[in-house]
Amino acid sequence: MVTATFRFHAELNDFLPSRLRGRDCTCPCARAASAKHMIEALGIPHTEVEAILVNGQPAGFDRLLEEGDRVEVFPPGAVSRGMLPPVPAGMLREPLAVIRFVADAHLGGLAHLLRLTGYDTLYDNGYDDREIEDIAAREQRVVLTRDRELLKRASIAHGCYVRALKPHAQLQEVFDRLELARQLRPFSLCLSCNAPLRRVGAEDVGERVPPAVRERHQRFSTCDVCLRVFWEGSHWRRMRAVVDGLMPSRP
Ligand SMILES: [Zn+2]
Repeated sequence: MVTATFRFHAELNDFLPSRLRGRDCTCPCARAASAKHMIEALGIPHTEVEAILVNGQPAGFDRLLEEGDRVEVFPPGAVSRGMLPPVPAGMLREPLAVIRFVADAHLGGLAHLLRLTGYDTLYDNGYDDREIEDIAAREQRVVLTRDRELLKRASIAHGCYVRALKPHAQLQEVFDRLELARQLRPFSLCLSCNAPLRRVGAEDVGERVPPAVRERHQRFSTCDVCLRVFWEGSHWRRMRAVVDGLMPSRP
């Protein structure tokens, strides 16, 4: 056994029991325990950690802990929020070139809103944890969940623990954390199928929309999977308000 001291910063404290929040926590660690092993044993999934300092030096998840080590653990965005200087490349996971998601079975509302903003999001309320893990590993998707045990699975490299309970607040939370506002492509994906929408004219939609709608609108989008047609009606305008409200709330 060795003894190491841990300090978790900012919102990582939410994962700790109240007696350990905001203070140094000295713990016995199994021989040859890695930083990742101990951080997760204390309740924080590895996906929620951006950087680790051991005795003031940047360290990777696989760093083996030694007697007397002091481990500081930082949340996503810690570098851009000025909580610590940039850590060397390769110290933690590589960022994804394209951000795509797989949402767990409890986050259907969030999945629909992400599709609305143009982010490819797989969701099925029949997914179990194993399927989500497989999809995330195979397709390099970010796992969205409120289940921290799911995020501790080793093959899930990218994940996001969603704190908010309501879909619109969840959307804002995910946008802030992953800085999604810069790559918005609203109304580009089918809300039902997650398939790309294709622009079509009134002449192409035929009987699929009511005549009154066909007369009032020129621009339509269709999904080639479910064949639904979307147009800029009142529902669209309400969704536009959601998209327009997605400004970064973090300085
Ligand atoms: Zn569709």
